[in-house]
Amino acid sequence: MICRVCDAPESALELAIDLGSQPWANHFLRPEEVGTEPFYPLRVLFCRECTTAQLDYTVPKETMFSDHTYLSGVTKSLSDHFARVAEQVDRDVGADRPKKSVLDIGSNDGTQLKHFQRLGWDVLGVEASRTTAAIANEAGVETVHAFFNEELVRSLGRTFDVINAAGVFFHLEELHSVTDGIRLALAPDGVFVVQFLYMQRILENCAFDQIYHEHLLYYNLRTIEALLTRHGLALFDATLSPIHGGSIIAYAGHAGRRAPTERLQTMRAEEDASGANELETYRRFARQIETMKQENLAFLESAKAQGKRIFGMGAPVKGNTLLNYFGVGRQFLDCLVEKNELRRGMVSPGMHLPILIERELPTPPDVYYVLAWNFKREILANNADLLARGTEFFFPVNPKDA
Ligand SMILES: [Zn+2]
Repeated sequence: MICRVCDAPESALELAIDLGSQPWANHFLRPEEVGTEPFYPLRVLFCRECTTAQLDYTVPKETMFSDHTYLSGVTKSLSDHFARVAEQVDRDVGADRPKKSVLDIGSNDGTQLKHFQRLGWDVLGVEASRTTAAIANEAGVETVHAFFNEELVRSLGRTFDVINAAGVFFHLEELHSVTDGIRLALAPDGVFVVQFLYMQRILENCAFDQIYHEHLLYYNLRTIEALLTRHGLALFDATLSPIHGGSIIAYAGHAGRRAPTERLQTMRAEEDASGANELETYRRFARQIETMKQENLAFLESAKAQGKRIFGMGAPVKGNTLLNYFGVGRQFLDCLVEKNELRRGMVSPGMHLPILIERELPTPPDVYYVLAWNFKREILANNADLLARGTEFFFPVNPKDA
């Protein structure tokens, strides 16, 4: 094991957080698969050289991304976010270009690219899940079913004004080949738009459930810059978005083409001041996770003792990290309630909680234990009537930006 970003040797990697052995969180089980799911170590290491937080164990990408059931078009706030990103990029990058093209890496069902199409962009998606790529193509968003890497870029034989990578940049097993592929596919004055969960916010919010096997890397501005610099790219601007409980939308170009904005320089300074790139902050985070576990179990035990029925709200991938690490199963929750109908009849990995579809519920519970906490505002707004009738909503994580 060497650092995934800077190649520092194993002796530079400190074990920061150990979440035990966990199943692959994105693999919701069919009833016949229950009990057969494999478990893998889930541990975060901190690199003392480049300060990047990263998992030490890699579940093979073919296992992870061939048939996932996450669809980005499902929630309204996510769809709104995609619309805003397309508009922002169109304004910032597309304004002076008569013809403009965008490549989306990990394009999912094409939701992001549809917003670019609407603004007159020529679009191409790359998506590793066959099912999801097919959905995108049927919806008129040209999508290649493949893993993005240098070899794929060579086969495309063209460059793009914008390359977008939302939330995929921490999945990547072939990190260096992918980053080289981005540089090759980026037009000379092109802009690479990279969106990632902001580790500084994960630490601040104690959102440890964002740690799961798909997320091999946990970036701050300083660490993504270390990676991009290695591959001839340079960050020149960034903004913070509330999506996923706190994400960065950063712009990079070919190295030496643009000076960093004042906004980026301010964000770097704030990040440094927060201690987000220091091992001691990770040590404190590990202690906070333990406290949070005790508090959550105390809440659930007390609610059960009062005879309350508790359902999980949402079946997000991250919810499985939380449920499995806390040991929250059928002794507390009757089920997980989901909008995504692709998950009908499935069971959560590890804790084996059955998934029910929200609009098909016969009666609401006394308590919703909200796993999809990053949609806090949307959930509270959509459930005003339940709240009025006394259903309680418990948020294990309370993000600063949501
Ligand atoms: Zn490193």
